[in-house]
Parts: sequence; C-alpha cells; structure tokens
Amino acid sequence: LFVSLEGIDGSGKSTQARQLADTLRGLGHEVLLTREPGGSPGAEEIRALVLQGDPDRWSAETELLLFTAARRDHLERTIRPALAAGKIVICDRFADSTRMYQGLSRGDLRGAVDTLHALMIGQEPDLTLLIDMDPDAALARAKARATHEERFEDFGKDLQVQMRAGFLALAQEFPERIRVIDGTRDEAEVAADVLAAVAPALPQ
Ligand code: C5P
Repeated sequence: LFVSLEGIDGSGKSTQARQLADTLRGLGHEVLLTREPGGSPGAEEIRALVLQGDPDRWSAETELLLFTAARRDHLERTIRPALAAGKIVICDRFADSTRMYQGLSRGDLRGAVDTLHALMIGQEPDLTLLIDMDPDAALARAKARATHEERFEDFGKDLQVQMRAGFLALAQEFPERIRVIDGTRDEAEVAADVLAAVAPALPQ
C-alpha cells in the first residue's frame, strides 16, 4: 500500500504523516515513512541542490528535471523495494507536489510535468490525502517553524493561495485517488480522519 500526503506549506501534512506511520506501526504493520523531495541518498542531494542557495540558479524547466530525477531515484532505491517487501509506504509529498509547484508556480509547465511523469515515473500512490488548509492559518504555522535555510520556506501568501486552489482542483481531477481532509481542526481530529481514510485500504 502506497499512501502520499499533500498540502501547502504549514498544512500539517508532515505531522500527520508521522502520526499515521506511528499508528499503523502500533497496529502491527511494517511501515516506511519517507518524503519528497528526497527520500533516498541521491534524491536528498538533489533536494539540497534545488532548495538551498540562489533561488534563480535553475530555470523552471531545469528545476522540473531535477525534481523528476530525484523522484526516479527515490522510487528505484526506496519506494519500490519497500513495496516489494510488503511494507506500507507513507510519503510526505509525491508527484502531485510537482504537478502543483513545478507545474503551476513558475509558468504553465503542467504538460511537461505529465509527459515526464508518464515517461520516467509512471507510478501513483494508491491513496493520496490532501490536508486542506486556509493559507493564512498555514502561513502562520509555517513561519513559526521556518528555518530560512531552505529558500522555499520563504514563500509568499499568493503562492499559498494558488497552490491551495490547485490542489483542490487536482482532487477533482483524481477523485478516486485523492481524499480531501480538513486540516484546520486540531491535530487529533485530523489524525482520526486520516486513519479513517486509510483504514479500508489496509492489508489484512
Ligand atoms: O514539504 P517540505 O516542507 O519538505 O517541502 C520543502 C519545500 O519545497 C516546500 O516549501 C515546498 O513548497 C517546496 N517544494 C517544491 N516542489 C516540490 C516539492 C516541494 O517547490 N515538488
């Protein structure tokens, strides 16, 4: 079972991913918790290349290629071996983040994103949990914990608004795969919804 969590910065998806992993382990499942960009040694190196340093170092197209290369390595080295070993894979961001960030935020590259995905990735999660959240609330949360080491932590509200709308539209594009979860409530309530969404898909 392959589950991804998506949402804007500060939506709480990483906290929910960790919580879900802990809960499933407590139920006796073998779980791999991983994240993008990153999740394998090579992909973590690419993450550092893209997220640290001069934001204008890479063009939008080069950035898309780097994120795609990182995902391919993550799939080969981390995700597929874990799935083959029968583990539940929980991934904090996956291809939907590229459909949004690389696909929408620096011009319209969605066509290129989809073509590259079909060519080089070709894998979707079985289930994607979109932790939906009002950008003002998310921004306040994300700023409170921003390290400023990574350039993308220094995002603006306009991007947050655009990404939220984009994610909600994506949920309508893939209604079978993507469940929208209201992330504004307290952590335990969101976690209960996350678990309820995953429960029917759990291996016996
Ligand atoms: O989810 P996480 O906080 O680790 O993401 C790091 C940063 O990279 C975020 O600010 C996110 O907006 C950005 N990102 C991106 N494109 C992706 C994935 C993440 O720009 N495909």
